[in-house]
Amino acid sequence: MDEKILQRRLKKLTIYVIIIGIATIIAGGLMAESSQRMIRENIDIRLENVTEQYRINLNRRLYADIQTLNTLAAFFSFSDMDTYSFAQGLLESNSHNNYIRMAYYGRSGVGIRVMLDSRIEMDVEVDSLNEDVAKTIRGAWEGQAGISRIYNDRNLDEEVFAYAVPVYAGDEVIGALAASLSTDVFEAMLEDKTPLNDQGYVHMVSDSGKILIRSKDQLIDAEVSSIYDGDYISDSEKERVRAALAAGQVCFTNLTYEGQEYPVYLEPMGINGWYLFCVQTAHVEGNVIYRLIMVNRTVVSVILILLMLFIIFGYRMLRKSNKRLIRLAYYDPLTGAYNLDRFTQEVSGKVEDSREYSLIALNVRQFKFINEIFGNRQADRLLRHIKSVIASHVQEGEYFCRGSADMFYIFLWETDRERIKIRMESIFSSIDSYAISNNRDYHVQMYCGVVVGTDVDEDAPSLEKSMVHVMFALDTARTSAKDRVWFYDTRLHEDEKLENYVGTHMRQALEDKEFKLYLQPKMDLRAGKIGGAEALVRWITGSGRTIYPGQFIPLFEKNGFCVDLDMYMVDQVCRQIREWIDAGVPPIPLSVNQSKLLFYEADYIDNMKRIIQKYDIPARLVTLEILEGLAMENVDVLNEKIARLKEIGFRISMDDFGSGYSSLNTLASLKIDELKLDRVFLMRIGSSRAEDMRQKVIMSEIVDLTKKLDMTTVVEGVETQENEDLIRKLDCDYGQGYYYSRPIRAEAFTEKYILDGEES
Ligand code: C2E
Ligand code: MG
Ligand code: MG
Repeated sequence: MDEKILQRRLKKLTIYVIIIGIATIIAGGLMAESSQRMIRENIDIRLENVTEQYRINLNRRLYADIQTLNTLAAFFSFSDMDTYSFAQGLLESNSHNNYIRMAYYGRSGVGIRVMLDSRIEMDVEVDSLNEDVAKTIRGAWEGQAGISRIYNDRNLDEEVFAYAVPVYAGDEVIGALAASLSTDVFEAMLEDKTPLNDQGYVHMVSDSGKILIRSKDQLIDAEVSSIYDGDYISDSEKERVRAALAAGQVCFTNLTYEGQEYPVYLEPMGINGWYLFCVQTAHVEGNVIYRLIMVNRTVVSVILILLMLFIIFGYRMLRKSNKRLIRLAYYDPLTGAYNLDRFTQEVSGKVEDSREYSLIALNVRQFKFINEIFGNRQADRLLRHIKSVIASHVQEGEYFCRGSADMFYIFLWETDRERIKIRMESIFSSIDSYAISNNRDYHVQMYCGVVVGTDVDEDAPSLEKSMVHVMFALDTARTSAKDRVWFYDTRLHEDEKLENYVGTHMRQALEDKEFKLYLQPKMDLRAGKIGGAEALVRWITGSGRTIYPGQFIPLFEKNGFCVDLDMYMVDQVCRQIREWIDAGVPPIPLSVNQSKLLFYEADYIDNMKRIIQKYDIPARLVTLEILEGLAMENVDVLNEKIARLKEIGFRISMDDFGSGYSSLNTLASLKIDELKLDRVFLMRIGSSRAEDMRQKVIMSEIVDLTKKLDMTTVVEGVETQENEDLIRKLDCDYGQGYYYSRPIRAEAFTEKYILDGEES
């Protein structure tokens, strides 16, 4: 799998896990939050109910007092009593009610007042009373029973308030009955914590926030006179509470005390803007369900954190092992460079999409030798050095890898041949100077094949095809002595295509008889007429194209197919002789080329015998041309085989003598009948007189030698009259070359040289 895909998947997995983790935490948080809200709502409802109970109790007391006063007012008939009796009556009733004072004020504005200590004050003027009390009395004169605000009585130094109810004579209000009361009564009621279950307290406050009556059990400091003082209520909440109180509405808020929040409920009493300020002191946190939720939340959080840690740990482990796997899968363990797989991943898409690239295959010349002479460790060091040199030369976005052994591939964004050459030479010179095993005498030599994207003539370019091209160029670079940077080009491409064709079509071509027998005459120089012919193969493809031996014989030599082809050619040669005999014309000897591979075939000689028998022709009409190189190997075995072939009747000729490292020893040791002097001898003549002389001397000596060894001589490459004159003068036996004829189709040859009996 692609490394990037692997990484991407891993990242995706991690993101999923993180998202799920976060979502779970958020969901947990929301759940806890909503439960908390539910609990709070519960508390609020309870607070509301409790406060309402206080309010009812208080109001009941207030209205009971007013009721009492109303009853008294009805009872007193002022007109029937003198002032004294009235005062006594008041005193009497107050002894049951415990008001601080009781008073009656006639509508004239003057009244009578009795105290708890039975003192009686006469002629008290309403205007001299506390302003708010006076207002309440005046209200009573208007027929309104009322309660005054709370005020501080200067004489008693006590917080008090007063009631006032109208006193009627008939339908007419004649005065007001008033009573003052200490706020202690309220305090006592507020102190009763039964409704609150001892988990809170209630203050009475004015609509301006002033604390009118305090419960003893309180969180707010006793010195603080208003609920807005200090930081008990946050600033934003203060605003909200103020607005609610001003509008006479109920209001929930929180009170902060020593870092804890307590729920508060404010409820209007409906009298004088008085409010009940009820605080729940049992913490929300104290609630069992809340505690359960919190425990739950903590456990879930801990589990989640552990899970996350586990995932992170797992992820790191996975990443580590992934990295190791990736290293194994995509990197060359020796040099740390990319391996071919990874290189292919990086480069193949680019090769398909763009032509602006070059692909290079790099090799070390004689790496095998370096391995053998300097040892594996030194060779490995060299490879690591090559890797670091290449790494320092490639640029951003370019790639390289070590394919195998000393093979490196480089992908460059470069199409200019000169630039590529400069860059490669620069790499080479950094490698050249590397001293293997501190041996400065040995110079490492590199060579490379290059394929430039713009030179690739493909409809659907691919890395695979470019790789084939580059290997081809590398192969050429290996054999080239002058250039170590070799570019793949169209000619190479053609050769490559042909090689592919040859390799893949040879067997079918043999079956389809596409290999044709061509014959080139050998001239008998003394008789001045044709003395034989050489069989040369031509591959005429189905499309009519002629492929020459030089284009397929070397490959066939390599892949072994030469054995099949040569036997086929021997067969064709024998068949031709048979045809001539059958046609009643005198047959001429034919030569046929024999690959050295044949000599390693166990049944070679038997097969040859079988062909001769099959066509029933004299074997002496067939000359087998072998190459000099064959003699380099095992002369004894070769001679033994030659002897057996000669026994059958074949003549043996040595082809291309003088083209390679010819040795006179070969001539001495091999039992051959004919020597074919390679055309290089004739080619060398004509360059300079001195050179000509030397060549002629050598040729003459060789010819003399063959005569002494009882061999006939054939000179190849006779192209001109001068060539013929020369070989005649040297007393050679046969001449072969374009001067007489090019190789032609066997049928044409038969017509021209056999049937017509023509001679050139
Ligand atoms: P070869 O056996 O030395 O064949 C002579 C080659 O020289 C032939 O090339 C021929 O066309 C060419 N030649 C003849 N006269 C002249 C001349 O005056 N000037 C020049 N420049 N060339 C001349 P061809 O047919 O292309 O064959 C090349 C080689 O391929 C042969 O060299 C032979 O080694 C090999 N070959 C050809 N046919 C066969 C075959 O059936 N089996 C095997 N094993 N090898 C074959
Ligand atoms: Mg030949
Ligand atoms: Mg030859």
